[in-house]
Amino acid sequence: INSFVEPYLIPEGSDELNKNLKFMANGFAVTDDKIREIIAGFHESMKTGLDHDDKDALPMIPTFVRGRPTGQEKGTYLALDLGGTNLRVCQVTLNGDTTYSLVQQKFTITQDAKESRLWDFIAECVGVFLEEHGMKPAPGKRTIPCGYTFSFPIFQTSISSGNLSMWNKGFTVPNSVGRDVVNLTQSAFQRHHVPVEVVAIVNDTVGTLMTSGYSYPDTQMGIIFGTGTNAAYWEKLESIPKWTGEDRKGEMVVNLEWGAFDNATKVLPYTMHDNKLNRKSPNHGFQVYEKMISGLFLGEVVRNALLSLVDRRLLFEGRSSEILNKSYTFDTAYMSEIVADDSSDLHGVKAVLEGTLDLPTTTFIDRQIVQNVCNMVGTRGVRLSAAAMSAVLLARPELMKSNVSVGIDGSMYQFYPNFEQDLYKVSSVFLDPDFVQNRLQLRLAKDGSGVGAAIVAMTVDRDRA
Ligand code: BGC
Ligand code: MG
Repeated sequence: INSFVEPYLIPEGSDELNKNLKFMANGFAVTDDKIREIIAGFHESMKTGLDHDDKDALPMIPTFVRGRPTGQEKGTYLALDLGGTNLRVCQVTLNGDTTYSLVQQKFTITQDAKESRLWDFIAECVGVFLEEHGMKPAPGKRTIPCGYTFSFPIFQTSISSGNLSMWNKGFTVPNSVGRDVVNLTQSAFQRHHVPVEVVAIVNDTVGTLMTSGYSYPDTQMGIIFGTGTNAAYWEKLESIPKWTGEDRKGEMVVNLEWGAFDNATKVLPYTMHDNKLNRKSPNHGFQVYEKMISGLFLGEVVRNALLSLVDRRLLFEGRSSEILNKSYTFDTAYMSEIVADDSSDLHGVKAVLEGTLDLPTTTFIDRQIVQNVCNMVGTRGVRLSAAAMSAVLLARPELMKSNVSVGIDGSMYQFYPNFEQDLYKVSSVFLDPDFVQNRLQLRLAKDGSGVGAAIVAMTVDRDRA
């Protein structure tokens, strides 16, 4: 455990400061043994979730996606990608030779949309996109078919329908839980005279898996490490006892919804800073794994931890700022900036604290403290990310004899310093190191969630024709 603690102590700091940092670092540490416990917990929970729907286990949602992409799919498609931060409307062109390109327009999801008028907001954005890009239904058709990426948990009832299980990532749109989100979207299209028909709905992790599979056929898993976190993987139908469809041969993509891990079991090392965040969140008690890993939450955990040091008069001489006092003002992007600062006077850290967060003049020790706390919380996030990925790969040990690609997207993966490198490093402790070094490929599936929806929509549309 000590190896987790010592790098966070500050030689020139007071004993009282170091005592507190040590306590904090211990709280945020995830030891190798803890990770082994988490992996075992994942396996049990995955097994239960594949057997039956159980509110205390991982959801393990069958997605109705059964065919792997071939890389030869060809054509231009409309895709909608509803994320936790942005809505992207994309015109995706699959070139039929494992490559693709896209034209997209990004709309930041307004607070108002997150809390109430989401469906109308989506219809309005799609309307704007069609207008600006002159997209119209094909001759003889009344609507434009579209693939829909939806980054929230839905229990799918077909490839083109699914009921919202709950909101997360701060969304609270009323009258939606339990209802078919394709219906809700489609009704808004009608109200706004938008001639679009959703022919396939996929989770963003499924989209990422499909996109990566389009370019790399050995892709077995799609992961999002972004505003939220989750993964999808290929599973044998015979290993999904709860699947009641007629055909039980072949495979299907399963959406784990791994952000829900430990909602009921309590294996994770929660600190008071996590508990505080959890209590104040609209989905208290849910998505507890996500709250330790993903971009929406890490900055808030850091903010809570920093304020606890301010309150002990160990940081910023006991003073805070209006900005730092408000929830969710410590953006996870600041963490990346702070962690990456290797200047001798930590002037990058100073710029964030004094410039952006409006804190009083900071000392060098203040800046070191802040950097260390960001490192503690960030390191824990990366280790838990690697634990989840390793758990899923270990659930399909036969795959690891061959090459495996994992398609990944999201802001943490793209922007948190050394994230990918650390994923490899931590995973190699729990997976066969030879596999990690020689056969495992983590691949950025950039904008993969939207492209994947287009791939699935194209298959559906083709099968329907
Ligand atoms: C949602 C998942 C989604 C993930 C990544 C989570 O909050 O529950 O459905 O895949 O975020 O966007
Ligand atoms: Mg996204």
